[in-house]
Amino acid sequence: MKYLKLTLFSLLGAIAFMVSCSSDAENTDETDDTDGTDDTSDAASTPLSAFDEFNPDAVTVSFDGDNITIESNGIPNHTSPYWEETNPLYIEPVVATRQTPGRIGGDRSYSLTVSSAPEIAASSTATGLGAIGIAVTGVPIFNDLEGDSRPIEEEIAQTFDYAGAHNGPSGYHYHIESSDIPENTTLSYDDEKLVGIMADGFLLYGRREADASYPTDLDESGGHFGVTPHSDGEVIYHYHIVNEFYFGSIIALFAGNLQGTPNTIM
Ligand SMILES: [Zn+2]
Ligand SMILES: [Zn+2]
Repeated sequence: MKYLKLTLFSLLGAIAFMVSCSSDAENTDETDDTDGTDDTSDAASTPLSAFDEFNPDAVTVSFDGDNITIESNGIPNHTSPYWEETNPLYIEPVVATRQTPGRIGGDRSYSLTVSSAPEIAASSTATGLGAIGIAVTGVPIFNDLEGDSRPIEEEIAQTFDYAGAHNGPSGYHYHIESSDIPENTTLSYDDEKLVGIMADGFLLYGRREADASYPTDLDESGGHFGVTPHSDGEVIYHYHIVNEFYFGSIIALFAGNLQGTPNTIM
C-alpha cells in the first residue's frame, strides 16, 4: 500500500512538472514577443495626418520623395502678452510676472527637413540652444536651457506666458508645457494633443496617450513605440511631454536627448 501511495505522489509530481514546463513554454513565447518589438525599430512612416494639426497661417509643409520640409514664420495663432499691445491677440500677462525684452514678430523663418520615415540612431544626441523642434502653432520648441546654457529656474520661469513661451534674441519660443487657464484654448495641457515635430523627425505629443492614460514605458527622452492619435493603429516611435515636474510646477517640453539623427533647423 505504502509503495502505491508513493507512486501516486510521483505521478502527481510528474504532472506538476509537466504543467510548469508548459508555463515555461508560454514564457518563451513572451520572449518572442519582445523580439517582435525590435522589429518596430524598422522605420515606420510618420503619419501624414499629423501635419493637418499645424497652423496653416504660419506653417507650410511640403513633401519631396522621402523628405518632409516644415517651414514656419514662427508667428503663433494664440494670445500672448508678448504681442505688440496694438495686436488683437495681445493680452495682459496672466502667468508671467515679468517679461523678457522684445515682441512677437519680425522677419523670422524656421525650416526643418526630416525623413518621412525617421529611425532611431545608434546613439542619442544632446540638443543645443535654439530651435530643437517646431510646434503645431509654428513657434519653435526650445530645450530646458536658456541662452547662457543655464537650466530653466524660477527667475526664468517668471517670464513664461501661459503658452510656456517667452521672447529671446532669436524670437518667441516655447520651453515648457502651457498652463491650464481659460485663455489657453489650443495648446497641449495634460492631454494627448500633438505638440510638434522634433529635429530628428519624431513627433512630440502631450503627456497622455489617445486613451487618456499616461505612458509607463518611456525612455530617457520621453519616447516610446506605440500608437498615436494620428497613426491609425500603427505603432510608431514618438515622444511625449514627460509627466514629471522639472521644478516647482514647471513641466519641460523636451529636456532629453534626441533619439534619432537631428536635422538642422535653419
Ligand atoms: Zn528661452
Ligand atoms: Zn505614446
